[in-house]
Amino acid sequence: MSHNHEPSALGSARAEAAITTAKTRPASDPVIITIDLDAVAANWRALAGLAGLAECAAVVKADAYGLGAARVVPVLAAAGCRTFFVATLDEALAVRRLIPAHRIYVLDGLLPGQAGAMLEANVEPVLGTLEEVREWAAVCRTIQRRGPAALNIDTGMNRTGLEPPEIDAMMAEPGLIDAFEPTLVMSHLACADDPAARLNGRQREAFEGLIRRFSGVRGSLVASAGLLLGRDWMHDLVRPGYALYGGQPSGIARLPMTLPVVPAVTIEARVIGVRDVERGESVGYGAAWTAARRSQIATIAIGYADGYPRSASNAVRETPGRATDDLSAYAAFCGKRLPLAGHVSMDLVTLDVTDLADKAPKRGDLVELIGPNVPLEEVARAAGTIGYELLTSLSRRAQRIYCGGSQKGERDGQS
Ligand SMILES: *Cc1c(COP(=O)(O)O)cnc(C)c1O
Repeated sequence: MSHNHEPSALGSARAEAAITTAKTRPASDPVIITIDLDAVAANWRALAGLAGLAECAAVVKADAYGLGAARVVPVLAAAGCRTFFVATLDEALAVRRLIPAHRIYVLDGLLPGQAGAMLEANVEPVLGTLEEVREWAAVCRTIQRRGPAALNIDTGMNRTGLEPPEIDAMMAEPGLIDAFEPTLVMSHLACADDPAARLNGRQREAFEGLIRRFSGVRGSLVASAGLLLGRDWMHDLVRPGYALYGGQPSGIARLPMTLPVVPAVTIEARVIGVRDVERGESVGYGAAWTAARRSQIATIAIGYADGYPRSASNAVRETPGRATDDLSAYAAFCGKRLPLAGHVSMDLVTLDVTDLADKAPKRGDLVELIGPNVPLEEVARAAGTIGYELLTSLSRRAQRIYCGGSQKGERDGQS
């Protein structure tokens, strides 16, 4: 099964399901983020299938990319995921409360003074500098226990990870590597979303050269995008994040390179009202959109304060010559595309619904801003960013509703 970016039959069915569920909800939430936990679980299973014999972990940093780790992590654990990655100690402690026994790695590594709390909670830092390794080893010696940790080695991204001379120094320092238990050696690809990038092969070669020095320790190189590179890249463990949540890491630039995942996030906002705008009149801040004909404008109750990006605005005047239909963001109602009209405000978005005529949305109706009919990747491109940033920017003001898992139609904050 492959997910493409045209509204597919499956997509429409899911959109209708989301809208049907919405009708059964109180008609008062201005913004509803529906998170399909069954889709997240199905995505993990699909990626685990691609990984073959390699273990498929789950990256749940940044509150599971904005979806809510408290809901997502138990569902992934129930699907069979045994290893989780977060970015920070606080995130690790929160995830530890959800899953007492699974492995949890902290990607940002060890900040000064964190070792005790990590050992106590049985979470493992991904050690990426010699200082971190020395601090971890020292604390392990003090408690006389070889605490488990991952090692991050740099193969060309120059961001985090031990450089080859640091690995030499680590191996040469008496008792250092023996003071703790390396459970994983990992590195990260800089250009995994571009299979033609020559850096990929250079990084893999460097990685395979270096992991030989850690015999018996498992290796991990790829995240979501790297799953498209093939079995040879998967080593012992793969670490997808974004794709679990329905994201296509290759964006839309390199279609049809797609992972077999389905959208898990739908964002809808309620119509406040619909008004007529005469030809020549403008809409919104900066008078940035002018009606080329008599138009109907629907104003909806979402804005950049909810995480809908202001840079997705359809401000024609500020970008003369831009092909509006091609690059602007759009919303959808009953499967029809609705272009944005003018700037995204803090709490409001205006949509051109003229073409829908008497089928236009009415006060209180829900309009889709991201979901099966409006792919995350297209909104991201229109906003000049990536879907990762959109998901992780969704604000807490927006109501999250969970479906699937064992939590049918449940609202966030209730149990
Ligand atoms: C965030 C992250 C991942 C997950 O990346 P996705 O592209 O979301 O799959 C994997 N490994 C590291 C080191 C990361 O920082």
